[in-house]
Amino acid sequence: MSQWPLITDIAVKVQSGELKAVDLVEQALATIDAKKEFEAIIATVSERARERAAEIDERVARGEAIGRLAGVPFIAKDNFLTFGSQTTAASNILKGFEAPYQATAIEKLEAEGAIVVAKANLDAFAHGSSTENSDYMTTKNPHDMTRVPGGSSGGSAAAVVLDMAPFALGTDTGGSIRLPAAFTGSVGLKPTYGLVSRSGVVAMASSTDVVGPITRNVDDAAIVLDVMSGRDELDSTMIDRNELGYANLEGDLAGKKIGVIKEYMGEGLDPEVKAQIESAIDKLKVAGVEVKEVSLPSLPLALACYYIICPAEVSSNLSRYDGQRYGFSHPEAGTLEESYNKSRSAGFGNEAKRRIMIGTYVLSSGYYDAYYRKAQLLRTKLTKEFEAAFSDVDLLLGPTAPVTAFEIGANVDDPLQMYLTDIMTVAVNLVGVPAISIPAGTVNGLPVGLQLIAPMKKDRELLNAAKTTERIIE
Ligand code: GLN
Repeated sequence: MSQWPLITDIAVKVQSGELKAVDLVEQALATIDAKKEFEAIIATVSERARERAAEIDERVARGEAIGRLAGVPFIAKDNFLTFGSQTTAASNILKGFEAPYQATAIEKLEAEGAIVVAKANLDAFAHGSSTENSDYMTTKNPHDMTRVPGGSSGGSAAAVVLDMAPFALGTDTGGSIRLPAAFTGSVGLKPTYGLVSRSGVVAMASSTDVVGPITRNVDDAAIVLDVMSGRDELDSTMIDRNELGYANLEGDLAGKKIGVIKEYMGEGLDPEVKAQIESAIDKLKVAGVEVKEVSLPSLPLALACYYIICPAEVSSNLSRYDGQRYGFSHPEAGTLEESYNKSRSAGFGNEAKRRIMIGTYVLSSGYYDAYYRKAQLLRTKLTKEFEAAFSDVDLLLGPTAPVTAFEIGANVDDPLQMYLTDIMTVAVNLVGVPAISIPAGTVNGLPVGLQLIAPMKKDRELLNAAKTTERIIE
C-alpha cells in the first residue's frame, strides 16, 4: 500500500489545511533516505523544497488558493533543468552544471503548487533501457535488487514504486517512460509528440523526445498531463490541448474497438509475458469490449529505423557539449581543438560515443541516402500503417516489452541485445502517437506491462480507456 493518497486528494487536503506541505516534503525526503540502497536518486532538492513547502503552507493560512497540485511532492528525471540542485543527465560531462532556468514542464507543475524534492537517475543522456548507462550508478528494481528497473527513466519509475513521491517525471524518446513503468509495475504515459513542452529538457532525439508522468494509477497520470500540457513559446513544435483537458476522466470504454498488434504477439515475446497479456485481453472481452487482431507489417523494421534516426539526432544534439560553454572542461588542454577532444573523450560515456559515431556516419555524404533517407521513408510508411490501423480500431494493444526486468549486467556487453528491449516501444515515438503502459500481472514476481496506443492527439481517449482497462484487468 502506498503512503500517498491520490494526487488530487493530497492537493485538496493541503488547500484545506488538513495536510501540511512541509510534512509531505519531509515524508518524501525521509523515504528517499530510507531507500538509498536502490540508487534511484542522484540528488535531493531538499533546501528549495522545504522553502517552497513552508511558503505554500503560509499562503494556505492566509486563505490564498494554491492550485491543483498544492503541496504535492514529485521527483524529476535528472535531464529536466531545475533550480536547487545540479542537472547532470547522469553524465560526467554535465557534472556540477546548475541550470540558469527551469524546464517549462517543471514551471507549470510548480505554478499549480507541486514541489520537486529530488532528481532521479537515468541512463546518461537517456540513452538506454536499464539505467546501466548512467555515469553514476545503476538503479535497482524495487521487486528484485539483482535486476534493472528498465530505462532510461529507471530512477523515476523505481522512485514511484518505492513510494518516494506520488509521481515522477520521465522522458520517452524510444520507450523510456513505458519500459521502466512495465519493469517496475507502475503507470507510464507517453503523450502525443508536442503536447508537453520540451523546453529545458536535455535533448536526445528532438523529433521523438516527449515528456510524461510515471505514476501509481491512471488518474494521477491524467492530472499531471493536464497541468503540464499546452503551448509554450519556447518550443515551436507544439500542438494544442484537447478542449476538455486530460483530468476528470469518465473511464469509458463502451463501444470502443481494440486492435491487438499481431507483430508484437509473435516471435520474440516471452511465453509467460504473452500469457499475461492474453489473460488481460480475455478480461476485456468478458467486459464486453470488441477486440480483434490487427497487423502493421512494417513494425519489425521500426527498431532498425529508430537506431538510425535517433543516433543521427543525438550526434547533432550532443555537439553542444564541447567543454567551452558549460559542463566539464578538461583542465589539461593547450589549444581549443585539444580542449574539444579531451573534454568530449573524458566527459562522454561509451554509449554516447557509440551514438555520436553511428549518427555522424549515417548523416555523412555517401551514406546519407543509404541509411538516413531510407529510415525517413520507412518512418513515413509506419505512420501510414498506424493511420490505416486506426481507421478500423480506436486503440491498439500489445505488451510494452518482450520480457520482464532482466538481471543487472545481463546485456551491458551486448548493445544490440539491449536495443532489442525497445522493440515494442520505438514505433510509437517515430510516429508521434500517444501510448501508455499499465501493470498487467506478474511473472515470477516481476511485473508485466500492457501497452495501449491511440491516434495522434487522442490522449484523453487513451487515458479514459486505460482507466477502465486498469480496473478490468487488476
Ligand atoms: N532505450 C531507447 C534508447 O536507448 C529509448 C531511450 C529513451 O526513450 N530515452 O534509445
